[in-house]
Amino acid sequence: MSEDIIRRDPRAEWIARNRLHPLHDSMQSAAAEVRGPSGLIRRNPHAVGFIGPNGIKRIDRMNGNGLASLGGRRSASGAKEVVLPLHKVDNPDYYIAVVPDMVGGRLSGHDRDVLGQAHKLIREIGGAGAVMAVVFGEYREEAFDKAGVDRLLHLDGDEYEGYSPERRVAALAQVEKEFAPRHWLLPDSVAAGFELGCRLGARIGERPATQAWQVDAQQSICRGAGGTLDITRETPRLVLLAEECAEPIDETRHEVLPVALEGAVEARVQIADCGQVAVDPNAIPLGEAEFILSAGNGVKDWDQFHQAAELLGATEGASRVAVDDGYMPRFRQVGATGTWVTARVYVAVGISGAIQHLQGIGQCDKVIAINTDVGCDMVKRAALSVIADSGDVLQELIRLAKAYRQGEIEHAA
Ligand SMILES: Cc1cc2nc3c(=O)[nH]c(=O)nc-3n(C[C@H](O)[C@H](O)[C@H](O)COP(=O)(O)OP(=O)(O)OC[C@H]3O[C@@H](n4cnc5c(N)ncnc54)[C@H](O)[C@@H]3O)c2cc1C
Repeated sequence: MSEDIIRRDPRAEWIARNRLHPLHDSMQSAAAEVRGPSGLIRRNPHAVGFIGPNGIKRIDRMNGNGLASLGGRRSASGAKEVVLPLHKVDNPDYYIAVVPDMVGGRLSGHDRDVLGQAHKLIREIGGAGAVMAVVFGEYREEAFDKAGVDRLLHLDGDEYEGYSPERRVAALAQVEKEFAPRHWLLPDSVAAGFELGCRLGARIGERPATQAWQVDAQQSICRGAGGTLDITRETPRLVLLAEECAEPIDETRHEVLPVALEGAVEARVQIADCGQVAVDPNAIPLGEAEFILSAGNGVKDWDQFHQAAELLGATEGASRVAVDDGYMPRFRQVGATGTWVTARVYVAVGISGAIQHLQGIGQCDKVIAINTDVGCDMVKRAALSVIADSGDVLQELIRLAKAYRQGEIEHAA
């Protein structure tokens, strides 16, 4: 019968070989068992399992049957969603305090690495340890549970908004007094963690380990001399951690139980935050820019591109082709032989996503691709893609940005 004839699907085979393709995962199970040329069913051990968010391969040995016991349910798209098991700590023997940067009110990738490190330490130390996150001011994060927060100490109030290191350190000193955490972990970052960590160290009399990237309960390896050598030392109570120090949590949910300070926080405040000063986004060094609009060979109208960047308040970046063709200056080039950027949002306009360019944006939080080619590597890398002509999309962005500035449209949270 014609249904019995096994036909090869070269496209599916190509997608199954291409790890960057958006449909790659869905092809995995299909490719796990293939009929060999002799007609026998062959099991491909490399195609079994799936890649978790931290890049580690996971094999579901229950073949999806465990989903029910884990509280599995189906999403609107019909795909099974796994509800992760809840990690509970009823009566903590000790705490590990984490002070995340919360840039923009949300946990950054660096914050999540630090929370992962806190749980790693608890596993090594043993006992019922709980990770307590200390968060200042208003936040917009909704996934503290999946990031590994067992207890949340939220210090709300206007006094903690903006640049307020003295008040924050005074609050942390009060946390030290009331909870005596076994360790203090902060991201070693320019966003807040480094300064706060140093101030806290001076306040509680602990010498911090800085740029620590391999930490266990006994010893820490820290980068020194501008990253040229490693310094090994005993793990102190206060550790300022480099990015990617540990795997973020991805297999458990956590309780996020609220905790509060009992005593009053008294701070001697000498610094006044006079608010933010508007700067020309193009004056910000590319490596420090938070929001980059980057142009490639797919940009045809350069005046329109510059206008869009200005209206959106973005720092301009470029691919090597745009630079080589003389449309952008060399110092705007992003990539292996240009600048390695760490923007929270990177919008790639008409950039194909060559490996040399992707290397330069590896640390960006959210990548948005604007491209006419749905199959290009930038679209595969992006969290959000707009498949359309760059000119049309930039024109619409300009229209929306102008309307927003004139108060015709509301800011969407
Ligand atoms: C040693 C070496 C080092 C390199 N270092 C770097 C580096 O640091 N940085 C770097 O960027 N490159 C670097 N390159 C070059 C890199 O390999 C690519 O050639 C380059 O990144 C491609 O630039 P592009 O994506 O802008 O252009 P293209 O590859 O030409 O891609 C253009 C993209 O625009 C899309 N497009 C076309 N028209 C439109 C339209 N109207 N609307 C929307 N989209 C459209 C196309 O679909 C395509 O995806 C290096 C190369 C070498 C050999």
